[in-house]
Amino acid sequence: MKFGGSSLASGERLQAVTDLIVAALDRGIQPVVAASAMGDTTDALVELARGLSPRPGGRDYDLLLSTGEVVSCALLSISLNERGIPAQAVTGPGAGIVTDSRHGQARIEHIDPRVLHQLLDRGITPVVAGFQGASADGAVTTLGRGASDTTAIALAVTLGTDHCEIFTDVDGIYSADPRLVPRARKLETITYEETLEMASLGARVMHPRSVELAMRHKLRVTVRSSFNNQPGTEIVAREAIDIETGTRVRAVVDDDDVARITVEGVPDAPGLSHALFEPLAEAGVNVDIIVQNLSHQGATDISFTTGLEDFDRAIEIVRAVAERVGAAGVTWSDEVAKISIVGIGMQSAPGVAARMFGTLAAEGINITSITTSEILVTCLIDEDRLQEAARALHTAFELDN
Ligand code: ADP
Ligand code: ASP
Ligand code: MG
Repeated sequence: MKFGGSSLASGERLQAVTDLIVAALDRGIQPVVAASAMGDTTDALVELARGLSPRPGGRDYDLLLSTGEVVSCALLSISLNERGIPAQAVTGPGAGIVTDSRHGQARIEHIDPRVLHQLLDRGITPVVAGFQGASADGAVTTLGRGASDTTAIALAVTLGTDHCEIFTDVDGIYSADPRLVPRARKLETITYEETLEMASLGARVMHPRSVELAMRHKLRVTVRSSFNNQPGTEIVAREAIDIETGTRVRAVVDDDDVARITVEGVPDAPGLSHALFEPLAEAGVNVDIIVQNLSHQGATDISFTTGLEDFDRAIEIVRAVAERVGAAGVTWSDEVAKISIVGIGMQSAPGVAARMFGTLAAEGINITSITTSEILVTCLIDEDRLQEAARALHTAFELDN
């Protein structure tokens, strides 16, 4: 059972979550609990550090960020014990979570489950701090924003549990972010593949790496609310939803956490894309939509998008490369956004992309670049038009509630 930040944002919420865990135990289920930091704690810690350093990072910063989850798992365990449930708070390192040493974006290398097994054998419910682990040299690491989901799935997989419940502040996975598209509807089931694309495209509801892991191990995952008793969304294998594949587009995903960077007048020669994207990859910058135009008089423009989190690092690298290769200049904008449609049925349905472009055109929304894969189409548009675009596409693809 994993509980997100808003599910644990106050003493009252901690009590409500305690009730949910007690109810599971009453049903004869022995849960392992993973907890996120309370409310906006992690953001507050980020702000504190940024007040002292423009780009905090590394070992100390990870130790700082990891404290949010330490607080919440300790409080939750205190609350469970108070209810007569033997429980124990465990930090990520304490739970045997070993990661690489990429601070801020660490990946779990393995989990030594001995401590958790010992607790479970003694009938003690472990309450594990999400989002954190330790590298081989003992430094506390964090797994990336939103990665408590990944802690939960990794624990479920390692311990061989048959189900992982992700408790959050909405009733499940919706056909669009319900905060942006009021007519969004909750999906009863969705495939791993679609959830992974949605998460990677910026739908916050699940951390992308957690979905990848669940998919690889075919773990049963339910996303549901900690605020009510609704059944939630089941993430299932592709085979399980044949009947629904008629619904070609299943969700609209928005992301305004995006910037576009363009290198103008790049001399058109072999190896230039490599010269640009290699150092970005080395610096761990996630590059998304890449567009390179046909060259005119031996020069071309290359554009790509990146998350705002990576922007500062990206622009620094790009400026250096542009100078080195003799490009005409670098421009950028953070007033762009990505709007995407996702659905496994799309691959067998021609005309889906055309319908998307037509819908945006009818709204007078300009598309600056496009990418597609088997099960998604993404357009880069003006940030100002994002909400209109999301709502129009949601209606056009017959997703409205
Ligand atoms: P938690 O703290 O529980 O991990 P998050 O804030 O990380 O919660 O994720 C839940 C939020 O994800 C919701 O409040 C919702 O606004 C957002 N969200 C974005 N896209 C979707 C979607 N398609 N379905 C459900 N929620 C979505
Ligand atoms: N507390 C961390 C964050 O805000 C991890 C999580 O919530 O999943 O990113
Ligand atoms: Mg989350």
